[in-house]
Amino acid sequence: MTVTPAQLRALAGRADALTAEVRDLLRGAPPGTPEHDHLAAARQAAGLLSRGAEDLRLAAGELARLHVQPCGMPWGVCPEHGNTLSSRAGISTCRVCRREWSGDRLGRPCEEPVTWKVVDRVGTETRMCDGHVLGARAAVAGATFIRLEEAGAHQ
Ligand SMILES: [Zn+2]
Ligand SMILES: [Zn+2]
Repeated sequence: MTVTPAQLRALAGRADALTAEVRDLLRGAPPGTPEHDHLAAARQAAGLLSRGAEDLRLAAGELARLHVQPCGMPWGVCPEHGNTLSSRAGISTCRVCRREWSGDRLGRPCEEPVTWKVVDRVGTETRMCDGHVLGARAAVAGATFIRLEEAGAHQ
């Protein structure tokens, strides 16, 4: 059996619903009523259920990342503008959009998700991210660029 992010998100949704049901119920015993003081554990349970929902969504996010293959080209790019980064004093900046990253992004392998398959004239296949494809389009003559489906990016 395989665990998918969608299953975790569905469970998170059920935890949300349960949280709401408990809170609705507790509204029937506001402060001042005799029941209120005896429901402290139930109020705590509502908080825990709500946190459980958040944690399940967190796990779904982590699991989704597992299937994303990083680009891995030996230098970093701006995901939108490509080879437009300069690194200085521990900060990398895109010359076009001025977006900043901490650390020497330019000097590290690219961690953006693979979204393209590039096949050059002799049939060599390289997978890369949006930003790297921008540079490759300019540099590789006669190559074929194939956009990978979101769901199939890990295949
Ligand atoms: Zn940019
Ligand atoms: Zn890349």
